[in-house]
Amino acid sequence: MYQVYALKYGERDTTACQFFYREPSHEPLTLHFYVWLILGGPHPVLVDAGCPEEDATARGLRNYVSPAAMVERAGVRPADVGTVLVSHLHWDHWTGHRLFPAAEFWIQQDEVAFWTGPVARFDVYRQLANAAALGELVRLSYGGRVRLVAGERPVLPGLRVHWVGGHTAGLQIVSVETAKGTVVLTSDASHFYRNVERRQPTQIITSLPQMLAAFETIQALAGASGLIVPGHDPEVASRFVAVEPGIIRLA
Ligand SMILES: [Zn+2]
Repeated sequence: MYQVYALKYGERDTTACQFFYREPSHEPLTLHFYVWLILGGPHPVLVDAGCPEEDATARGLRNYVSPAAMVERAGVRPADVGTVLVSHLHWDHWTGHRLFPAAEFWIQQDEVAFWTGPVARFDVYRQLANAAALGELVRLSYGGRVRLVAGERPVLPGLRVHWVGGHTAGLQIVSVETAKGTVVLTSDASHFYRNVERRQPTQIITSLPQMLAAFETIQALAGASGLIVPGHDPEVASRFVAVEPGIIRLA
C-alpha cells in the first residue's frame, strides 16, 4: 500500500473571473502550487516536477520553496526519485524536471505532440510553457529518461496514469491505491474542488468536452471514498491532514 503526500511549493493570487470559465465574480482566489509524493513502492514516485526559482520569480509566486527542498523535508533525497509522472507540460508542472536528476519522466504522447505541433505557437498557449524546458524533452528523451505513454497505463501495482485531456491536450491524472481507498491526484484536470464538484471549467482549455468528461472520470476513479486531490486548491490542507507546514498527508 502506498502513502501519498501533497507538497506545497508556492502561492499566487488571482480572481475568480480571471480563472473560472465565464465567471462574473471578482472575488479573490489564491492558488497553491504542489508536487505530490508517493511512497511505499520500490522507489519514490513524484507526480509533477514543479518549477525552479527562476520560473517562480518570473511568474510572481510568493512563499516559494524549491520542490526539491520539499521532497527532502518529506524524507526523500531528490536524486532518489526514480519516476516523475508528468501531468502536463505547463511551466508550473514541468520546468522543475532538472531538480530530479535520476528520474524517468512519464508523459502522454498527445501532450508532447501538442507542444511541438502547429498550435502551441499562439500566445494563448505559449505563455503557459517555458520553451527552453520544452526543448529539454529531446535531450532527456535521447538520454533514455522520457517514457511516452498513451491512454491509461499501469506504473506499478495499484498505481496508474489516465489520459483525460481537456485543460491540455495530453493531460493525465493519477490513481493510487491506499489503505484509505483510491486517491485521485487530478493535477489541473480540476484545479479546485469547485471545478469537479460544480462541473465548472477553468479558462485554460484545449477541449471543453474533454474537460467536462474528465470531471466524471475523476469521480468514477475515486468511487465512494471520494479521495480527490485537486491541483491548486488551498482547501486540500483542511480536507486532509497537514503534518507540517506545506506537507499534507493524503493517505
Ligand atoms: Zn498548474
